[in-house]
Amino acid sequence: MEETVDVALIGGGIMSSTLGAMIKLLEPTWSVQIFERLDQVAQESSNPWNNAGTGHAALCELNYTPERADGSIDTSKAVTINEQFEASREFWHHLATAGHLDRDQTFLSRTPHMTLVRGAENVDYLRRRHEALVAHPLFSDLEFSDDPAVIREWAPLLVEGRDPQEPIAATRAESGTDVDFGSLTRQLSEFLVEDGAELHLQHQVTALKQRKDGTWRIKVKDVSWNADPRPRTVNARFVFVGAGGGALPCSRSPGSPRSRATAASRSAASSSARPTPRSSRSTGRRSTARPTSAPRPCPSRTSTRASSTARAT
Ligand SMILES: Cc1cc2nc3c(=O)[nH]c(=O)nc-3n(C[C@H](O)[C@H](O)[C@H](O)COP(=O)(O)OP(=O)(O)OC[C@H]3O[C@@H](n4cnc5c(N)ncnc54)[C@H](O)[C@@H]3O)c2cc1C
Repeated sequence: MEETVDVALIGGGIMSSTLGAMIKLLEPTWSVQIFERLDQVAQESSNPWNNAGTGHAALCELNYTPERADGSIDTSKAVTINEQFEASREFWHHLATAGHLDRDQTFLSRTPHMTLVRGAENVDYLRRRHEALVAHPLFSDLEFSDDPAVIREWAPLLVEGRDPQEPIAATRAESGTDVDFGSLTRQLSEFLVEDGAELHLQHQVTALKQRKDGTWRIKVKDVSWNADPRPRTVNARFVFVGAGGGALPCSRSPGSPRSRATAASRSAASSSARPTPRSSRSTGRRSTARPTSAPRPCPSRTSTRASSTARAT
């Protein structure tokens, strides 16, 4: 049987749940359905064990401060990213104040962000990066040290066992936070469901096609044990492909014009990121190390924030 909804959200991660919350606040009468192929939300990239939780505030991510040809540091992307993170925090604060998220915002905890680099060239880069960033009010608490004793105070395990002859340097931002995207996704999903959205777990979207009238036809398969193998069809005015690593296959399904439903998941943008080693997790800090090659901005084909939104015309 075919049904038509206003919005179909594909995937039960932080991206779909965030957009769903915005839609519920701005268009409370719209019907929303969420399709998640697993048996719970936030089991993939948004699970706290699968990401470093920095929230990408650009406090420690070196790829947001590339070096220009003349050796100066371009801070523009870092400033924009940090402003976007602050906007996210304001949104979460708004939701918490309105009672849609837990009022203490337990998904957000204060955790200094650190960057560690090795080798004279990288130490020099980090020093210049610090000088360029610290002048901006958003980064005014950023500290720099190339003294192993100071770095040891900040994060003992980052120094332990290192060759004392090798130059190292670190920056630390006390104002950093750890975001539990799993908890946030669950809370946002609960808010959505309480507000009338339908969450379909163990439902995998197998095809997505735009119809002549501009609406979208979505084929959804119940993948739970012993389910009816026949896919169900749902029509939607708007579709959001928040399927993380599954976004590209979704938007490439036959009949889905990529120009209108280009999937660019945040997880793709962060594919070079690695989880924080457990050693530094244990010190309660978020730290990153500079890659041996010079930092490069994310490739332009991977957008940092957007999954795809397809609008019915
Ligand atoms: C190693 C690593 C470290 C990271 N570190 C950070 C960090 O420090 N700070 C930061 O801000 N970000 C970080 N990220 C990025 C961040 O985790 C992701 O950008 C974010 O969680 C992506 O959310 P999402 O909702 O797009 O995807 P996901 O959380 O992956 O959700 C996608 C969902 O879609 C479902 N799905 C897929 N295909 C289908 C389908 N066909 N039908 C139905 N459902 C489907 C999946 O099961 C999944 O639940 C990191 C990511 C990784 C991998």
